[in-house]
Amino acid sequence: MDVPMLDREESKIASEFYAAGFQEFKQTQTKPLKENFSKLFDYYNGLTHFEETEPNAIMHHFIDLYGPDCENCGKPYRTHQASYCVKCGNKREI
Ligand SMILES: [Zn+2]
Repeated sequence: MDVPMLDREESKIASEFYAAGFQEFKQTQTKPLKENFSKLFDYYNGLTHFEETEPNAIMHHFIDLYGPDCENCGKPYRTHQASYCVKCGNKREI
């Protein structure tokens, strides 16, 4: 099955929703992890008309393309293989 892809800008918005979902989960811890990602699902499924229910699957759709963002400064690592951030020097945890 073909998986809908996001462009760089859409990916950035989606990764913010993804991070927010984890924050919410950490702060409240009243719902199962997945239920904290409703904004991410709304955004992604609204864009793609896909019915994705796995937050990690959504992230993999574009992390494989662009590489993840730096945990320290939020800038993209640019490549999936990058071992540190060129912007702030943060060492990436792989
Ligand atoms: Zn950085």
